[in-house]
Amino acid sequence: MINQERLLATLFDLIRIDSPSGEEEEMARHVSGKLESMGFSVERDDYRNVIARRGEGTPLILSAHMDTVEPGRGIKPRIEGDRIVSDGTTILGGDCKAGVAAILEGLESVLEDGGETIALEVILTREEEIGLMGARKLDLAKVRGKEAVVFDGVGPASQIMSASPTYVGFDIDITGRAAHAGLEPEKGVSAVRIAGEIITRLPNGRLNDETTFNIGKMEGGQVRNAVPEKGTLVGEFRSRDPEQIVKLGLEVETVVEQVRKLFPDAAVEFVMDTHFHGYELTEKDPAVKRVASALRGLGLEPDLQVSGGGTDGNVFRSHGLSAAVVGMADYNAHTKKEYVVIPELVDAARLCEALVRGQGV
Ligand SMILES: [Zn+2]
Repeated sequence: MINQERLLATLFDLIRIDSPSGEEEEMARHVSGKLESMGFSVERDDYRNVIARRGEGTPLILSAHMDTVEPGRGIKPRIEGDRIVSDGTTILGGDCKAGVAAILEGLESVLEDGGETIALEVILTREEEIGLMGARKLDLAKVRGKEAVVFDGVGPASQIMSASPTYVGFDIDITGRAAHAGLEPEKGVSAVRIAGEIITRLPNGRLNDETTFNIGKMEGGQVRNAVPEKGTLVGEFRSRDPEQIVKLGLEVETVVEQVRKLFPDAAVEFVMDTHFHGYELTEKDPAVKRVASALRGLGLEPDLQVSGGGTDGNVFRSHGLSAAVVGMADYNAHTKKEYVVIPELVDAARLCEALVRGQGV
């Protein structure tokens, strides 16, 4: 049976282990130990992702990520009503530790009851928060499962992420020419000015129902009295419509080209990288079908929701796996106001338990 007290203790333990992206080792060791004690054989791939297996046959993959965003060190979780919150100076790290805790409790619950489990593969990735790196570098030769349930969505476990956009990041590097701002500004070419030209020509914000565009960071210049030589812009765009993705890619290229012509003495370089590909799911998808039916078995109605974000589920899908991303009871992720709703967390563990028992197939 799902044991709420144990579930919360597991989650608190996980939250108290600092694991900002790139520093997941302690977290990986802690969770590996737990999985080993439940009879899993645990291995690590070259990128230090955790891949654990139990049972014979084609396993069902249960997945979550081990890293958190900042500020995520020395987190002090506490219970407030039916929520778990931080002390307000850090994030909570419920993203994705609520997911990991739900998986562990689902497993423990079945095993302590001496219940049968289907073949399972637990995949815990690193560096999800900095561009799904762990999933992208995952050693597929070590993965045997074909269907994955990813516990990394917002909201209750009944919420299945049914569509996710394609995500493209771009970096624009500008090199102008430095000069004294007061004595000989005409000898300079301002990289900051060029950055401004580019920004005003690019789209911004929500472009339509399924498309967004953002410049998230701009840097340039060093001191007040010099014409700035260097500038950079870091941006992204997302859309569930592949045509929009192509169109926006061309638009960035065109704007850069226009601005190059305006400032022939400057160098404007840019790189674009598709971080993940979007998808749209229906209940016909094997992983969604399994999850939806397991949820109904628990008396929960599956709720397919469109998301503007990406998860390891996007990468798994592009690796040819069927992947369903379910809610892990976490809200306001990546903020100091992040919280986990305890009854929903219990439901996430119950969903995991049902899946582990082979329900929903
Ligand atoms: Zn996450």
